[in-house]
Amino acid sequence: MEQTLGIPCRLDNDANAGALGEYHFGAGRGAKSMVYVTISTGMGSGIVYEGKLVRGKDCLAGEIGHVPVSDSGARCGCGGRGCLECFASGAAIEARAREWAERRPEHVARMVELSGGQEITAKGLMQAAAEGDAAALNILRETTRWLARGLLMIIRILNPHVIVLGGGVAQSGALLLDTLHGFLDELASPTITYSTEIVVAALGNYSPLYGAAAMGLEIPESSRQ
Ligand SMILES: [Zn+2]
Repeated sequence: MEQTLGIPCRLDNDANAGALGEYHFGAGRGAKSMVYVTISTGMGSGIVYEGKLVRGKDCLAGEIGHVPVSDSGARCGCGGRGCLECFASGAAIEARAREWAERRPEHVARMVELSGGQEITAKGLMQAAAEGDAAALNILRETTRWLARGLLMIIRILNPHVIVLGGGVAQSGALLLDTLHGFLDELASPTITYSTEIVVAALGNYSPLYGAAAMGLEIPESSRQ
């Protein structure tokens, strides 16, 4: 790419870029350690410690969506089975909604309507849940319980100062956070407490774009001609 464009280039995934975006310009500003978790169609995370991305030996640090959490045999997009992404991502929410639509179609009318009359989308489901739709809330609770488990893994292993939730599902904001904190309290240990703050991304869908700009700023001035 550098040869084709004739300028220095950096390549990274959306989770790492989102992490840098929120660290430099968003909800993670000033945090000594921060984990950005993106919950959209898939699920991933980017880890920032003292301003630097933690990439790991194989540049695969932060793949929280592909931690196996279940023996259910659910096939993940990565080729593995039982990954967290199968239960806590936007795609998982939509898959669960499809099951409801097949088995209990009388309960999904509002979700279908808010999804534009077609297949239920995670966005339509979150809107229905915010209105108090019982089936949407049921699916939201189920997936958020898995998300709480995933975030507790991050908290137990890294104990970051801040976890920033990004991606389309996180934009439901207070509803997701309230549900999440309920499950975090339920799953908590009385002896291993933590003060990690959990917040929603300040840059919405644009966290990775801001992060890409931050990566560009890391390229030495001398090679930015
Ligand atoms: Zn996977």
